[in-house]
Amino acid sequence: MFNAILLDKNEDGSTRAQLTQLDDAQLPADGDVTVRVDYSTINFKDGLAITGKSPVVRKWPMVPGIDGAGEVIESSHPDWKPGDAFVLNGWGVGEVHPGCLAQRARLKGDWLIRLPQNMSARSAMAIGTAGYTAMLCVMALQDHGIRPDSGEILVTGASGGVGSVAVALLAAAGYRVVASTGKLGESDYLQALGAAEVIDRAQLSAPGKPLQKERWAGVVDSVGSHTLVNALAQTRYGGAVAACGLAQGLDLPGSVAPFILRGVSLLGIDSVMAPRARRERAWQRLAAELKPALLDRITSEIPLAEALDRAPDIIAGKIRGRLVVNVN
Ligand code: NDP
Repeated sequence: MFNAILLDKNEDGSTRAQLTQLDDAQLPADGDVTVRVDYSTINFKDGLAITGKSPVVRKWPMVPGIDGAGEVIESSHPDWKPGDAFVLNGWGVGEVHPGCLAQRARLKGDWLIRLPQNMSARSAMAIGTAGYTAMLCVMALQDHGIRPDSGEILVTGASGGVGSVAVALLAAAGYRVVASTGKLGESDYLQALGAAEVIDRAQLSAPGKPLQKERWAGVVDSVGSHTLVNALAQTRYGGAVAACGLAQGLDLPGSVAPFILRGVSLLGIDSVMAPRARRERAWQRLAAELKPALLDRITSEIPLAEALDRAPDIIAGKIRGRLVVNVN
């Protein structure tokens, strides 16, 4: 038997979430690697799944948890053997395939990444999908040719998981980072991560003009909606915006003016189905570039049972940084 969070659907369509015990016979048949999960985490998407605020879960009942790190127990996959340390992000785990907010999981070997050397399972989950997505955003801006001397980088949703890691990574790489947040009380935290300036997100979250004063060489946006539209309208000629999130909204209520008059690029970032080679590159870079002391500052640890209480908080934008779940 092992502990797990289990989601099920009530008759009225709402989601019922409980901490329960499952046995190995309840692990899914479609998997070739059985793992011991040491740590998992609560991302925004896990919050949506547990609260049922959005149709993230498409198969019932479901163990949530899009991220996990731990050790292989049993494997019929040629690349994985018992004792191997792994990290897993996405691939529909916690959505259509039972996930990692549990002490055990059965996964596909093709989905797993080797835990980088010198990185613990806990650190990998402190980074989680949020941090790995922040790195995908940084890589996209750099692939676009944006260098520290290109100009300032705006990070929206800066005190959240993606935002906090993006601020830390960009500042460590020498960029001047401007952090946009609704939590001005967290300015010291954001400056400690490396933000050169902290601005009130209210400056970006209301409808604005299609073209505004050019300021940003690049943007990491985890917020969407009017914030993304204003960020595009303030991006300098030839700059780029890496868009990965929807914390404010799924809509994009703007105009094509920044694209056709300033050559601004909108770079879409998806972590769930990102190809393996790009994931491995992102994780190697995270291991090399994210300072452990900053990661500690970003991270809070909670037990599995508390994941249920914290899920609504992440949807309400109340969590600072990253929540690691110690499932044991
Ligand atoms: P968090 O909740 O940790 O961070 C989101 C932050 O956005 C909040 O902390 C808050 O920051 C800000 N925010 C929240 N609500 C609003 C609002 N109404 N208007 C403006 N800003 C708001 O979530 P994550 O960092 O885990 O994820 C961020 C987003 O990125 C989510 O939408 C998530 O689904 C998405 N995502 C997408 C991925 C992909 O593959 N494309 C992968 C990972 C995440 P502050 O208070 O500082 O303003």
